Amino acid sequence: MDRRKFLVNLGRGACAIVIGGVTYRVVKNQLNPQGAGPKTRFVWAIDPHKCNGCGICEVACVRTPSAVKAVNDQKKCSFCVVCYGHISDKQIASDKIISDGKRVCPHDAVVRESYSGTVDGTFIYTIDDKKCTGCGKCVKNCTEKGTQSMFLIIRPDLCIACNSCNIAAKCPQNAIDRVWFGPEDDFKGEYELEYEQN
Ligand code: SF4
Ligand code: SF4
Ligand code: SF4
Repeated sequence: MDRRKFLVNLGRGACAIVIGGVTYRVVKNQLNPQGAGPKTRFVWAIDPHKCNGCGICEVACVRTPSAVKAVNDQKKCSFCVVCYGHISDKQIASDKIISDGKRVCPHDAVVRESYSGTVDGTFIYTIDDKKCTGCGKCVKNCTEKGTQSMFLIIRPDLCIACNSCNIAAKCPQNAIDRVWFGPEDDFKGEYELEYEQN
């Protein structure tokens, strides 16, 4: 393998590790502590930088409802009064959002809560995963017009880990890949295992 190919492969590997790490951090609190999710394995994951929220994830998964859900990364969210992933009319007055605001989500799964208790100020947006069907509409809006804090994930506790993911086969963005799903980003468990064997 020449040097350039080696560096490209190294870059892809690093990307996959980061995506796996993000997925793990998002879902780890939802995993069964009795061991529903093995501590280390490979899982199917969505690259949020490639996904455009086309909607195929909602219908192509062999599971119904889909194993794909939207999440909102609070570290990237701007806590806007009017959120593109929540309300389709950005021009609406803040005191009219609750009564008249047209929701982006067809299932009203994007939850808006006032942090300061006033109609203006800071708002926390979360996704109700029991209502979310993975249609990607909120993700598409947030990605195109907002801070790109909303994205889709394949939940490892819902995914049955098909040998060939049906969504991966149909994704127009080629955004789904098998990635490492480690205990944390740092590979500590794997390292210790190798270390003990030597
Ligand atoms: S099929 Fe691909 S582009 Fe479409 S929502 Fe799923 S991951 Fe995103
Ligand atoms: S718009 Fe679609 S992806 Fe977003 S929360 Fe609602 S159902 Fe889930
Ligand atoms: S691997 Fe199977 S269950 Fe998991 S997201 Fe893909 S199609 Fe759905």
